[in-house]
Amino acid sequence: MTAAPCGMAHAVQAQARIDSAAVAHNLAQIRKRLGAGRARIWATVKADAYGHGIARVLPGLTDADGLAVRNLPEAHLCRAAGWPGPVLVYGGLQHPDEAALLGAPDLHLVISHAAQLAWLQAAAPGGRPPSVWLRYAGDTRLGGFEDEDYAQAYARCDALREQGRIAAIGHLNHYARSEDADGIAEADARFRRAVAGRPGPVSTCNCAALLLHPGHAAHTDWVRPGIMLYGASPIPDTRDGPGLGLKPAMLFTAHLHGTQTLPRGASLGYRAAFTAPRAMRVGLVGCGYADGYPRHANTGTPLLIDGQPTRLLGRPAMDMLAIDLTDIDVPGADATVVLWGDPRNTVEAVAASADTIAAALLTGLTSRVAMTGA
Ligand SMILES: *Cc1c(COP(=O)(O)O)cnc(C)c1O
Repeated sequence: MTAAPCGMAHAVQAQARIDSAAVAHNLAQIRKRLGAGRARIWATVKADAYGHGIARVLPGLTDADGLAVRNLPEAHLCRAAGWPGPVLVYGGLQHPDEAALLGAPDLHLVISHAAQLAWLQAAAPGGRPPSVWLRYAGDTRLGGFEDEDYAQAYARCDALREQGRIAAIGHLNHYARSEDADGIAEADARFRRAVAGRPGPVSTCNCAALLLHPGHAAHTDWVRPGIMLYGASPIPDTRDGPGLGLKPAMLFTAHLHGTQTLPRGASLGYRAAFTAPRAMRVGLVGCGYADGYPRHANTGTPLLIDGQPTRLLGRPAMDMLAIDLTDIDVPGADATVVLWGDPRNTVEAVAASADTIAAALLTGLTSRVAMTGA
């Protein structure tokens, strides 16, 4: 083993560089796809902007019509980071005490169950009344009202609106199978029947829906893209982000810590997950599953070292992973390894190799990773 000399702190830690200009580019691409339709954009920044950091991506979202988050504390983060526009809260009120967080201007709460309406009703009036979006159970059934209950909930909202406790009422649906060409027609027909005759704006489309069903998206009032803003594809089996004209917003890198030679037949790593079929040169990289690199990634998972494509060998360890340098020309002892986020090494490709999805990887980096904005 030839150990690299102990570098500076930044060189031993995995790093994630967040590019808000890429986010701005991706938002513009989404808008282009919506065409001349009327749909406005809730830019989805839940889970701290899919792991990128709300404040870091916000400079790229100035052209969004609103931001969508999971909970009220995240809505306040958006405000604290300087976002002046509407904020949609997918989880609505999660506890009666959260009613104390209402009153901020331009707040939109998704209502998914009846208790949330009771909490809203019991809240002390004050500040600006929130708008609400009733969530239809649809075919995801991750919360939301079925047909009969939807009608009742709407009537309760209407009464609260007349009392000035609610500013406006919208209709929200979320499809379980928007990735499929035939995945939304039936679900949408049911939703449209449930909301018929009940005024209010409609929001139904995430990224996959607006990508694969653009005609449908164009006839809704608001769309709710998430993953594409960060440059990853919602349909990775068909096309990756760069193939859709998107730019990865997170560049996840680490450094080479050393190299070693494996004789033919030698095994590598825990449980001997890899055995060298011939003499090989192996690089050890300072990143592991404790940083958020997926432990289920396998031999063959793509990486780049100093711009050259290579592959993972065996399973990642807690702090380290091994890569194939056999046919690679490695210039420096401290060479940079791209774990994901280069158009030639997308997070989708790594996710596919680890039997997961891009959003799970992007949201999974840990506090050990040095995250910087660009
Ligand atoms: C997360 C989320 C979205 C965004 O989904 P993407 O697949 O990332 O585009 C839209 N709507 C709701 C209700 C969500 O929870």
